[in-house]
Amino acid sequence: MRLTRYFLPILRETPKEAEIVSHRLMLRAGMIRQEAAGIYAWLPLGFKVLQNVTRIVREEMDRAGAVELLMPTLQLADLWRESGRYDAYGPEMLRIKDRHERELLYGPTNEEMITEIFRASVRSYRDLPKILYHIQWKFRDEQRPRFGVMRGREFLMKDAYSFDVDEAAARLSYNRMFVAYLRIFGRMGLKAIPMRAETGPIGGDLSHEFIVLAATGESGVYCNADVRDLPIPGIDVDYDSDLTPIIREWTTLYAATEDVHDEARFHAETPAEKRLQTRGIEVGQVFYFGDKYTRPMKAPITGPDGSERPAQCGSYGVGVSRLVGALIEANHDDAGIIWPEEVAPFRVGIANLKVGDAASDAASMQIYHALEKAKIDVLYDDRDERPGGKFATLDMIGLPYQVIVGPKGLAGGTVEVKTRATGARENLSVEAAIAKLTA
Ligand code: ATP
Ligand code: MG
Repeated sequence: MRLTRYFLPILRETPKEAEIVSHRLMLRAGMIRQEAAGIYAWLPLGFKVLQNVTRIVREEMDRAGAVELLMPTLQLADLWRESGRYDAYGPEMLRIKDRHERELLYGPTNEEMITEIFRASVRSYRDLPKILYHIQWKFRDEQRPRFGVMRGREFLMKDAYSFDVDEAAARLSYNRMFVAYLRIFGRMGLKAIPMRAETGPIGGDLSHEFIVLAATGESGVYCNADVRDLPIPGIDVDYDSDLTPIIREWTTLYAATEDVHDEARFHAETPAEKRLQTRGIEVGQVFYFGDKYTRPMKAPITGPDGSERPAQCGSYGVGVSRLVGALIEANHDDAGIIWPEEVAPFRVGIANLKVGDAASDAASMQIYHALEKAKIDVLYDDRDERPGGKFATLDMIGLPYQVIVGPKGLAGGTVEVKTRATGARENLSVEAAIAKLTA
């Protein structure tokens, strides 16, 4: 992509309303634009990151055996009356009437709808287990939308739902999702720690929140410091094998959100020098809630003994749009964002320091074309601008690699390759730079 053709509305001033660094940088780097309180347009650069996060979530859900579908954002109020949640949900629910005075709502979550879809066709334990998921916009009329996309009103969520014949089988689905979550966040370069958590309006009695430790997080958390160094399951993890050793490893050390924190237990289980009390960002949550929806909504299945019972269920959310903010909270410096490679909007930025200079233009284009041919996402800053502005823009938008092309370097036969994360710089021939960036 050539920057002169792109749409990257960089803000020079730091927006006053932004309280935390990720919100400031997303606005300044032209990633999002607020359209109403807690409602954002995703501009091209931000949208690319959102799509990269979505792709990782999808790949890992598929790998874990979940099946993707897409449910609508609007739901019938009557569906929610079946579970009893229509009245219980409160002012966070956006209630809508259509022209026929039918009551609808903009979905804050989809337990009812997936149960309705499930009960329409699944009757027997032979069809189980099933884990269904979608990646869809949600609306919650939050009392205090803030921190940009971290606490929006409209936000993108991946939500999965598991259906099993009994509790033991439902545990296996829970474990699958738990391991998939470790992999999802691990692939993004995030340390997200599973912590015992309250179940809230989703209900049920077993739940973990996945929390990225960050001083600006909204949740107070307590954990054993060593939980940060546990190994993430590899790409070869066999989801059909017994996953309990992984779950046990990740749930033995103390880790709890403030809602369920037990100070006495924390002290008993954790040596003083390992006790970590800090804040964190909830990027995902997994719940097991049994028949909370399948019982009132009458979604029975026949078991092996021929008797009918409600399916045993769980739900599993990931805050896809919140993750974009969380990633910046975890990866930035004073100059701007430092994208982990897996989610970066472009892998490489080329800064042509003297547009119009024949050698600089030719070398820039040679690198640009070679990277495009190798299917590497590249942003070429071909604007007629001062070098200082180009450096600042590239540092702020945080692409993993920068190639700096100018007459001075080219006179000695080199361009400069800078690694954003380390600041390391190398002078390389055009060919060597291409080889390094396409390796
Ligand atoms: P919170 O406690 O932050 O309000 P929640 O526990 O109500 O979140 P869940 O129902 O667990 O949210 O939703 C699944 C995931 O969706 C959360 O883990 C979070 O990452 C994300 N999420 C929830 N609310 C918002 C929001 N207002 N804006 C952005 N992401 C959100
Ligand atoms: Mg939650």
